[in-house]
Amino acid sequence: MKNEVALQVKNLKKYFRLGKGQDLKAVDDVSFEVYKGETFGLVGESGCGKSTTGRTIMGLYNATEGEVFYKGDDVHKMNNKEKFALNRQMQMIFQDPYASLNPRSTVKEIISEPMEIHKMFSNEKEKLDRVYALLEEVGLNRDHANRYPHEFSGGQRQRIGIARALALDPDIIIADEPISALDVSVQAQVVNLMEKLQQEKELTYLFIAHDLSMVQHISDRIGVMYLGHMVELTESEELYNNPLHPYTRALLSAIPIPDPDVEDEREQIVIEGEIPSPINPPSGCVFRTRCPMAMEACAEVTPKWQEIGKGHYVACHLYNDEIDDSPSSAQGSGGVKVNIR
Ligand code: SF4
Repeated sequence: MKNEVALQVKNLKKYFRLGKGQDLKAVDDVSFEVYKGETFGLVGESGCGKSTTGRTIMGLYNATEGEVFYKGDDVHKMNNKEKFALNRQMQMIFQDPYASLNPRSTVKEIISEPMEIHKMFSNEKEKLDRVYALLEEVGLNRDHANRYPHEFSGGQRQRIGIARALALDPDIIIADEPISALDVSVQAQVVNLMEKLQQEKELTYLFIAHDLSMVQHISDRIGVMYLGHMVELTESEELYNNPLHPYTRALLSAIPIPDPDVEDEREQIVIEGEIPSPINPPSGCVFRTRCPMAMEACAEVTPKWQEIGKGHYVACHLYNDEIDDSPSSAQGSGGVKVNIR
């Protein structure tokens, strides 16, 4: 059972000031914990704030409000020396392996750069041995060390990105859409590699993706984000078997099922309309402008973040007894069973 907290995010907000008193509310009061050794999947449409959440956790953006605790210390209150030390423990894998690797550096230089910055080795041979070992761990070999990124396929470049992220022997890896830019045939290979490395090195992953099918396989627990808010969070299996939030149900119903009989039978939930602007988000529930279940109260009252079943959290008035017009079928501590697949 994974229950030691590796990372705690509390009421995190990241607003980007646009001028004229306007803020783009990319992340708005998001809280969750990531347990040691687990993969926590963070999903949502493009623009929902999931990548900004990852980058703010890493300290690449300053938080507007809220806290991010790593081993009891708030990342955003650390001094430069502490942040430098944290950098060894928390690393990031980026979405685009084409853009994230310096085209003018050899693979050896790319992977050894963080080790040089952190002065991990006193001599070249030790450093080179480490580079070779990392290349082998990610399924490449020492012959690749002197080549340049353009000589590799997309999947191989992402393996180089993973080797670089592992160079400092971190505890936590924030993987920001690590397979989205890859061919479907290569995605599974990279996911399998990440799972293998997780087991070997007891890594904790925050795995950010834009569709649930990508995180289904790899995640222990999943948080679903919409317009800067976390709307549902639970164990991966529970989310797939018993999704509560209308947005989660819609995301799940969009995943194709390889069995044509099941695919024909199941209910498809289509979300109408565009995602609203995070500069001027809807009042009450931010999903209300696209929600097929929206009620009057949804425009007036912000839904509470509440635990409906063990470890299953949701923010939706359908599960709040205090909201008068909650449909009766949706009330109760066990939540609603919906068969969408
Ligand atoms: Fe839909 Fe209302 Fe629930 Fe928001 S609170 S998801 S609008 S039912």
